[in-house]
Amino acid sequence: MMTATRTVSFRIYPNKTQAETLDAKHRMLRDLWNAALEERIGAWRRGVRITRSDQERGLKDIRSDLGGWRGLIHTHEAQVVLKRLDLAFQAFFRRLAAGQTPGFPRFKSADRFRGWGYKEHGNGFRVEMRAGWRHGRVRLCGVGEMRMRGIARTPGRILKADVYRDVRGWNLSLVVETGCAERAPATGPAVGVDWGVAEFATIACEDVDGPRFEAVPNPRHLDAEKDALITRQRALSALARSRKISRGALKRRRKALARKHAKVAARRKDFLHQLTARIAGRHRLIVTEKLTVRNMTGSARGTVEAPGRNVARKAGLNRSILDAAPSAFLNMLRYKAAEAGAEFLEADTRRLKPSQRCPDCAAVRKKALSVRRHDCDACGCSYGRDEAAALTLLRWGKAEVAARERAADPAIPENGHPAGTVGASDPPLAA
Ligand SMILES: [Zn+2]
Repeated sequence: MMTATRTVSFRIYPNKTQAETLDAKHRMLRDLWNAALEERIGAWRRGVRITRSDQERGLKDIRSDLGGWRGLIHTHEAQVVLKRLDLAFQAFFRRLAAGQTPGFPRFKSADRFRGWGYKEHGNGFRVEMRAGWRHGRVRLCGVGEMRMRGIARTPGRILKADVYRDVRGWNLSLVVETGCAERAPATGPAVGVDWGVAEFATIACEDVDGPRFEAVPNPRHLDAEKDALITRQRALSALARSRKISRGALKRRRKALARKHAKVAARRKDFLHQLTARIAGRHRLIVTEKLTVRNMTGSARGTVEAPGRNVARKAGLNRSILDAAPSAFLNMLRYKAAEAGAEFLEADTRRLKPSQRCPDCAAVRKKALSVRRHDCDACGCSYGRDEAAALTLLRWGKAEVAARERAADPAIPENGHPAGTVGASDPPLAA
């Protein structure tokens, strides 16, 4: 059975006592993080390496050092804190090994410590969903039962959970495993999806009449709102520095701004949900390129041997790539494809080079980012830059699937389709 995991968030509604207990848990687990971090740093300075299991074994001592947990902390909650710290240290050691000079993982103030997690449903937390997986109740160790609101679009098996606090209050995010066995395989033409900066996404299909493209514009209105909020935030910070505002008023205005930020983020997420649902529901094969954030964003400054050019402009570009949130987009596309019974293929960007390769003749020629057209010297074809990339991805994906089918069934001829019109038997693009 094919399965996919997805994350679903719910708001939880503690009463006054429960809210105080949640705050107490938050404080205790943050203290644990800071104490365990201090132990790690001390050991590192003495040249001793402490492992996560060392720290798990020492949990009892840490607990009594911290003045006890009054029965509020579940073992798994503490273990997840130690695990996250361990991950932070692994990243620290990786950067050291790569010759960088990283700072230690951070001590966390109340604002910086987001929350805690659970490893297994029924161990420290238990969730009961209402019919249709809309809303429900959650019981947390030491806190009791609380109402929660939210909608899981697909029911499934609850694997683990995170509890975190944001500007609006407390939240529970569940990792749910959904099965896809009962779904019929998806139908509809294969599709290539190129995501980028100029357009949010460019979608390519093809049929007997040739390739067709659709450009999905960036949700610029959301960017504009976000920029406006950032401007207001800066103004507020300046006001705070000049001390022309009372602490109370400052706090209120900061909170109001944070709420507006959360609203814009929610609308952006909604945009992603709608777009990915539409793509996943209409195509049996979805081909895109693998996200490597390092490739896209890490190289503006270049290296000592090859210093980057146009650092400032590239940094701006990187910011808009991050804003476009390709990782959230691709994750949603991946799990929605799995749920719809569609196949999801990701090309290795460095090998395929979709933005440099000609979709018609496969010639590779480097194009600067500013070049928005693909005009091929070799075969004379002409596409928009992103259209060419989407079409290259589509044809690569179809060739992969065809090769796999040939390997499974040697009776299929080597070249079932004339070159350049791979998949000419595809039904026309649904409107
Ligand atoms: Zn060409």
